[in-house]
Amino acid sequence: MEENFRDSIGTITEEGKRAWVFPKKPSGRFYDYRKYVSYALLAFLVAAPFIKINGHQFLMFNVVERRFNIFGLPFWPQDFHLVVVSMIIGVVFIALFTVAYGRIFCGWMCPQTIFLEMVFRRIEYWIDGDRGAQMRLDKSPWNGKKIRKRVLKWTIFFIISFLIANVFLAYLIGSDRLIQYITEGPTAHLGTMVPLLIFTAVFYFIFAWFREQVCIIACPYGRLQGVLLDDKSIVVAYDHKRGEGENGRKKFRKNEDRDALGHGDCIDCFQCVNVCPTGIDIRNGTQLECVNCTACIDECDHIMDSINKPKGLIRYASEDEILNKNKFKFTARMKGYTAVLAVLIGILIGMLFLRNEVEANILRLPGQLYERKENNIISNVYTYKLVNKTTKDIENVSFKLMSHRGTIKMVSQDTFKVPAEELTEGTLFVEINASELTGDKDKLKIAVYSGDEVIETTTTQFLGPRSYN
Ligand code: SF4
Ligand code: SF4
Repeated sequence: MEENFRDSIGTITEEGKRAWVFPKKPSGRFYDYRKYVSYALLAFLVAAPFIKINGHQFLMFNVVERRFNIFGLPFWPQDFHLVVVSMIIGVVFIALFTVAYGRIFCGWMCPQTIFLEMVFRRIEYWIDGDRGAQMRLDKSPWNGKKIRKRVLKWTIFFIISFLIANVFLAYLIGSDRLIQYITEGPTAHLGTMVPLLIFTAVFYFIFAWFREQVCIIACPYGRLQGVLLDDKSIVVAYDHKRGEGENGRKKFRKNEDRDALGHGDCIDCFQCVNVCPTGIDIRNGTQLECVNCTACIDECDHIMDSINKPKGLIRYASEDEILNKNKFKFTARMKGYTAVLAVLIGILIGMLFLRNEVEANILRLPGQLYERKENNIISNVYTYKLVNKTTKDIENVSFKLMSHRGTIKMVSQDTFKVPAEELTEGTLFVEINASELTGDKDKLKIAVYSGDEVIETTTTQFLGPRSYN
């Protein structure tokens, strides 16, 4: 088979220019299923920042204030290890999925594919028509009809990009704040409006112009395919044994006995190429551009129906299945990834259960040693930080020394409140009689109380003079 298609990507001409793809409008059972999946995912994507669980936004990624909510659970910078473990799990899960099922994520779940194929492209079909009409319009001079269609399309694209940017912002700053900003008006929040318009411009650029280039050039996941896929991975594949037969593919001719002539079932109609949103010919084999969108499966199934051949010349299959008729197998690599995934999920669940709702940190003030006071009292100064991860205020908070006899003196009031989902910080002194110390660096255990109830314990260091070693 000619391999020169691998020397360049399908959307760049020999002169190095962009070859614009005008994919035919897909139709068929997979396209219908993908539509339903995309409706559900789009609804989830838009609704998730507006859903609240116990007062917490369902999903929020406030990078600026370093506050994250995942499935209604608030994560603070102190929980960052959990976010890291969750991300590693995500990567292993996607890797496992890719090894087994190829780029199924790209075709069915990736927001880029869903927005491009199920939102923007469908508006384009509605305004500009199908592939042929789009190509004619593209070549036609700028007349009234073309200007009208272009202005309408670009305006709708801009409005949708603006809406997507707003949803994106709801994930970043929180939906409550977004609604507040909208009701107060954009001029009151120019500092947010400007980034919002920048996001809008980025989304507009991606969906109106850059399009499939994201998957081909920019997306690192697409690039990983080369190392993740093997001949047992299930991908959208052309059954070259069946399609080519003994003597290759050939155009369809009525009343010709193709089997007797040794020709395969592919009638070289190029419909699978015309429908492809990344402009490739799947008959050349698995390629980096293929996002496994299944459009070519549907299109070829229509063709096979029309010539009374069984469907599935292009289908979900592994190379091993096509060559040797071997069915899907759970390979050693998949078992390895599954084991790693199970261990990581176990660790994450353990960490989630061990996670405190209140987090206390008491640290000695940097650069300060100790102070000797009357009656052999040694004093150290500390800063404390208390994080309340709950949605309720914690009242009457105080500290008590557990490991030593001594006193804790607060710089401000003795008891205080830590408001819901807030961090409270301040300064305190610990005073201990030198005779109580066991060395020049004692480890202190301090309990945090709310009223009479211990809500957290923490440790810190206490410095004393060397002579008491
Ligand atoms: S749609 Fe099917 S029959 Fe037509 S060229 Fe593609 S693989 Fe061959
Ligand atoms: S080759 Fe088929 S599955 Fe792959 S991107 Fe093109 S149409 Fe979609």
